[in-house]
Amino acid sequence: MDQTAAIYAEIAARRESLIALTQELIRIPTLNPPGQHYREICDYLAARLEPQGFAVSMVRAEGAPGDSEQFPRWNLIARREGGGPGDCVHFNSHHDVVEVGHGWSRDPFGGELDGGRIYGRGACDMKGGLAASIIAAEAFLAACPGFRGAIEISATADEESGGFGGVAYLAERGWFAPERVQHVIIPEPLHKDRICLGHRGVWWAEIETKGRIAHGSMPFLGDSAIRHMGAVLEEIEATLYPLLAGKHTAMPVIPEGARQSTLNINSIHGGQAEPPAGNTGLPAPCVADRCRIIIDRRFLIEEDVAEVKREVTALLERVKAARPTFAYEVRDMFEVQPSMTDREAPIVRSTAAAIARVLGREAQYVVSPGTYDQKHIDRIGRLKNCIAYGPGVLDLAHQPDEWVGVDDMADSARVMALVLAELLAQ
Ligand SMILES: [Zn+2]
Repeated sequence: MDQTAAIYAEIAARRESLIALTQELIRIPTLNPPGQHYREICDYLAARLEPQGFAVSMVRAEGAPGDSEQFPRWNLIARREGGGPGDCVHFNSHHDVVEVGHGWSRDPFGGELDGGRIYGRGACDMKGGLAASIIAAEAFLAACPGFRGAIEISATADEESGGFGGVAYLAERGWFAPERVQHVIIPEPLHKDRICLGHRGVWWAEIETKGRIAHGSMPFLGDSAIRHMGAVLEEIEATLYPLLAGKHTAMPVIPEGARQSTLNINSIHGGQAEPPAGNTGLPAPCVADRCRIIIDRRFLIEEDVAEVKREVTALLERVKAARPTFAYEVRDMFEVQPSMTDREAPIVRSTAAAIARVLGREAQYVVSPGTYDQKHIDRIGRLKNCIAYGPGVLDLAHQPDEWVGVDDMADSARVMALVLAELLAQ
């Protein structure tokens, strides 16, 4: 039997194990926020991987946002050394899941199997991908025991809230340094025939307009921060949105609507604070002395973040020129550089070749509209040879009745195992 046939046979033999593993991972409700059961899921994975020769490290991201004695940010890194020198292929999955939300017809933590689908919060994003990568590694180890290099599997915290207690923490401590890891696959649910090369950039900022409080019956004695913000919003509509719509990217972003720069006005608050629940009183008549919006600007690899910020300051300066008492402040909240791995990078080439062999069709190259943990591996870890590739339908992520298909998981496990064979087999 040749190597490919041996790998396929090992994966086929593990179909029940793949299903059970996915179900058991879903049944550990690793909700974020607040960050529940992180240690439990890491212990569960350690108990599976250690007997197979993986050296397991448990790393708590002490002091990271959200880390506390009640909700410690635990991460697991499992490493299996081969018989000789070679590259290390690392599979990184986040183990946290988002809140359940409303509208479920299945038990969100039941891991129910029905019609070839496994249901539950995190089934698709991304416990199905984690399970597929583990089965891929186990099948490869059985089929190619004499491999060289190393395989790593990590399960990391907090991707859904920025990854600072997970991949960012590990990358800062050298876990993704190019001398110890050479190839990274993040099994996020991009679908089994797609290779995700990276993501757009992000800039979040808070813009505040300032005014002066006065009695609401005599607004002319004050200066309304809300009216100033209205002028800002008008200027955004009139000039910024058309400018952004004209910026197109060579990044293959999906969906196609995100193949340009985008801006979301995330929230707006002005004047009196929202009354607490149950309050039945009327508001007091006041002129708003401040108004704030939070903007969520997604930018392209062709754009520079400094230029992205200058566009907003220029816009505010235009408003200021037209309104004598206009005063504003811009506060940076968060920024992420765009990331896009080269199509000729080794992990991209071997994954594309494996997709063609397993599925009999060409791989599609895509870029994600939003960010994921690749940002930390790229910027902090300095590791460019990284992609997202995994089973599941991206649109189902964070939705009620989220599911992952067993056949899709098995196919992508085949792809991942063939990647291991190409990069690590003797
Ligand atoms: Zn995810």
